[in-house]
Amino acid sequence: PRLANQIAAGEVVERPASVIKELVENSLDAGASRIDVDVESGGVKLMRVRDNGGGIAQEDMPLALSRHATSKIYELDDLEKVVSMGFRGEALASISSVSRLCILSNTQEQGAGWKAETEGRDMQVEVGPAPHPKGSTVEVRDLFFNTPARRKFLRTEKTEFNHLEEVIKRQALGRFDVGFHLRHNGKVIHALKNCDSQLEQERRVASVCGPAFMQNALHIDTEAMGLRLWGWVALPTFSRSQADLQHFYVNGRVIRDKLVTHAVRQAYRDVLFHGRHPAFVLYLECDPAIVDVNVHPTKHEVRFRDGRTVHDFLFRSLHRLLADVRP
Ligand code: ADP
Ligand code: MG
Repeated sequence: PRLANQIAAGEVVERPASVIKELVENSLDAGASRIDVDVESGGVKLMRVRDNGGGIAQEDMPLALSRHATSKIYELDDLEKVVSMGFRGEALASISSVSRLCILSNTQEQGAGWKAETEGRDMQVEVGPAPHPKGSTVEVRDLFFNTPARRKFLRTEKTEFNHLEEVIKRQALGRFDVGFHLRHNGKVIHALKNCDSQLEQERRVASVCGPAFMQNALHIDTEAMGLRLWGWVALPTFSRSQADLQHFYVNGRVIRDKLVTHAVRQAYRDVLFHGRHPAFVLYLECDPAIVDVNVHPTKHEVRFRDGRTVHDFLFRSLHRLLADVRP
């Protein structure tokens, strides 16, 4: 099983950003309304994710760290409609096999917490009492300390941090109801409070995507055939110097999908006659039963049961929105 963990780690844990993605998804799954991420040296030295979610019961700890132990699938039927982010039950085990991992947790509003530490492939878990408020803190130190070959593939501190920050940004855009705080080497990079209104959401989008995006963006919120599309799309007056600004979420999950990109691009091209890559932050909400979540743990792919309908809905909705403002 130890070797299996390290092989799995190769699939799931590529760099600090992939660790952060898994840890924050766990915090979201645990129902956290606030997540604090603290990293040092681009995450290689330290990544600490603290949440105010439901916590892990001490007796569930060994299970949480063993492969394919997930508390998130209760019936086989759930595989058909995966709602929670994590469903494979191997992230913690994989991460702990290539780092020094420490978990502090408490399931209660009052009462003491506990702490567990593991180090590398040996997976010696030491559990003991430790104070912690309700929720969990997962600390990952010295990523790849025991796998030099993997460590060699890490880039500069700045590059690793950029990837990590990108993950947090995507997650923050996916959950307006959750507060996200990110610090790097003690410096506050993002302090995003929970959003209760469209105005607050737009503030968050501006803070994550830059004020220029929001200043040139149109708001959309439309529904048809059991599908809802909402979010913001930038007009061509928004010129970007950075990389593509394309965020698409299906039922809260980050998705990169050809069908989606095609529908958006086609609407832009049809109405505005420009071939540039459009910039958008969009959310599709639909019955989970009509979308298959790809089984690969790190890829953001989906398969829609009826791709045609989804494509047409996206295309028509955006076409109408853009046509309304065409100069
Ligand atoms: P998965 O998320 O796919 O179930 P993980 O390896 O990521 O697998 O996590 C294993 C288990 O540990 C989870 O199913 C959950 O029960 C528990 N867990 C991990 N992180 C947290 C957290 N921050 N809060 C509460 N429980 C957690
Ligand atoms: Mg998980």
